Amino acid sequence: MSVSDIIIIDLTENIANKGVTTQFSGTFNLPSDLLSYPDSQLEYVIVDFDVTAVDDEIDLVGEIVCKVNGFCDKCLDKVSTSITLTFEQTFYKDVAPDEDCYIYENSLLDATKAICDEILLSMPTQLLCKDDCLGLCPKCGVNKNKQQCDCDTTRENAFSFLKNIKF
Ligand SMILES: [Zn+2]
Ligand SMILES: [Zn+2]
Repeated sequence: MSVSDIIIIDLTENIANKGVTTQFSGTFNLPSDLLSYPDSQLEYVIVDFDVTAVDDEIDLVGEIVCKVNGFCDKCLDKVSTSITLTFEQTFYKDVAPDEDCYIYENSLLDATKAICDEILLSMPTQLLCKDDCLGLCPKCGVNKNKQQCDCDTTRENAFSFLKNIKF
């Protein structure tokens, strides 16, 4: 896939029509070292934003879908998954009111850093093959999603894990 690694939004229409929301979407390659999971790769991201100019500020609201390839934290199986993050950010014209804020200049908004920051902040702390992954048996090491074993600890661990699931 040949896609850009910077995310630039053209604001010409927004600045000419304040308060009118336009759509921005696309697929981008961001640096794969954004992820905190070892041995995992961010293959690409799909962004889909509503863009609105409010006075001199630009509001971006939408979603970042991260396509991730890696290994399950619990059972170590290969994982190929999409993680959707919500994104909501205001960009200030030329000068940031404080150092945590993002800016745009002229009629172009470079959202790359803001999106990278959001991915770093908001990715789930574990990469799992599925929400209810049973992991490996701590005694014999079998993958409990695929195989049962008769180890003593197995049942206890399975139940204590189930108790922690929040629906
Ligand atoms: Zn797993
Ligand atoms: Zn076992």
